[in-house]
Amino acid sequence: MHEPIAFLGTLDADEEGAFLSALAGALPEASIRPFASLSAAERAEVEIAIVANPDPAEVALLPRLAWIHSLWAGVERLVRDLGARGIPIVRLVDPELARTMAEAVLAWTYYLQRDMPAYRRQQEVGLWQPLPYRPPAETTVGLLGLGALGTAAAHRLSEAGFKVAAWSRSPKPLPASLTGAEAFTGAEGLPRLLALSDIVVCLLPLTAETQGLLGAPHFAAMKPGAALMNFGRGPIVVTDDLIAALDGGHLSHAVLDVFDVEPLPPASPLWRHAGVTILPHVTGPTNPRSAATIVAHNIRTYWGTGRIPTAVDVKRGY
Ligand code: NAP
Repeated sequence: MHEPIAFLGTLDADEEGAFLSALAGALPEASIRPFASLSAAERAEVEIAIVANPDPAEVALLPRLAWIHSLWAGVERLVRDLGARGIPIVRLVDPELARTMAEAVLAWTYYLQRDMPAYRRQQEVGLWQPLPYRPPAETTVGLLGLGALGTAAAHRLSEAGFKVAAWSRSPKPLPASLTGAEAFTGAEGLPRLLALSDIVVCLLPLTAETQGLLGAPHFAAMKPGAALMNFGRGPIVVTDDLIAALDGGHLSHAVLDVFDVEPLPPASPLWRHAGVTILPHVTGPTNPRSAATIVAHNIRTYWGTGRIPTAVDVKRGY
């Protein structure tokens, strides 16, 4: 019998129930228990914590904790709150999450490429005005981030006939299946990608390097009339600079799924901006069932071999 596994999160009861029941189904040999239900003696035995927005004060009450498995792909909060403690943090890398995000990237790419925001505005004033059609083969989508999610999105866009460019931190060869895609790296690569992209999609993690990365200078480097999607994290984009770029007409539209503060406060000017589409952080939700299968595999591997799965590089921030 293994030690209990602690489940720590600030989720609503339905969400927590869905995760606990999926985890119990995927790992029936384990006792996965909400933190609050563990006695002090049980907490003292816990080696593994499965977390979704945990309270760091609760994590601190697990003295034998060997590693943490996040149910989210983005781990900036865990890195900030727990990184200094040196406990390995394993993030969720789930092909189903990547598929869902890639689907969202393609869906909102079509929204922009087929000029849906403009037709919506025309309808509001009763204007019958066909706009020139721009085929996918003449539309370049620039992906910021070519990790688990960016790579899946690149494939999906490429299969749909879009031209793809991608930017990452380290130089890396693109998968052979992405024929015709262009890769860019580092500070000098970013303006080059921005200059050739009709649609820029941010799928970066939030780190010390990416916080505030997309502001006035980079918006100015984008093609006139280009559009932005931010599906990574809110603070990567400087909101005031984005609004200025939209108001000035240099950018045509922004589809935003993530914000500095979530839920987006009612007073935010983004809500009422005609050039902005607001999504309530829905482009890449964690699927409890597929996530539980991955978490179960990682925990069984640890039990069988003592090997902790590849953890986040806390210094790098992702
Ligand atoms: P990942 O596999 O770690 O990939 C991150 C990518 O970003 C890598 O290609 C990395 O470059 C690149 N990168 C990081 N810092 C950079 C920098 N300073 N300059 C240039 N490139 C940089 O992460 P992922 O699984 O694809 O997820 C990406 C992010 O999506 C998550 O961190 C999370 O914030 C966000 N997310 C959002 C939702 C949602 O619902 N909106 C859902 C899930 C995740 P290298 O390849 O060189 O390492």
